[in-house]
Amino acid sequence: MEKKIENAINRQINAELWSAYLYLAMSLYAEKNGLKGVGHWMYIQWKEELDHARILEEFMIKTGSNIELQTIDDVPSSWDSIHEIFKDAFIHEQQVTYMINRLMKTALEEEDFAVVSLMHLFVDEQVEEEHSVRNILNALNMLDNDTAAIYEFDKELLERKYTPSKLLR
Ligand code: MG
Repeated sequence: MEKKIENAINRQINAELWSAYLYLAMSLYAEKNGLKGVGHWMYIQWKEELDHARILEEFMIKTGSNIELQTIDDVPSSWDSIHEIFKDAFIHEQQVTYMINRLMKTALEEEDFAVVSLMHLFVDEQVEEEHSVRNILNALNMLDNDTAAIYEFDKELLERKYTPSKLLR
């Protein structure tokens, strides 16, 4: 594997682990503030991000590439409202999408088609990620500051189930 791509995938592993860390912080904050559903939803999000990192790690192992785990940056520990949590999550997912697109571009330029193939799955995953966060954000915008409605909405989020990524099976 070209060093350039190896470095980019290592950065992506770090980004996925940082994402996991961010969602864990959001989960803990929500739970602490009585938003059980948001806490649960973000806890599943945390697991999914760990899966994303694991998929990349397994790819690096299979291709005999070097994995260099880097420092995971600090994450915020509090938010002003449930809206702010999901606004941050949405901005974050857009940044991840940008990184994935860059990685795909590099893989295409270097003609590393194994990485291109893997990145297809990540591109698709980002469409799903942005979609699910955008849906919640839209719902919250409609609820505005109606605390009773937000309380009900929070309960709906408890229904989310974790399924390990197909790529890990
Ligand atoms: Mg991810």
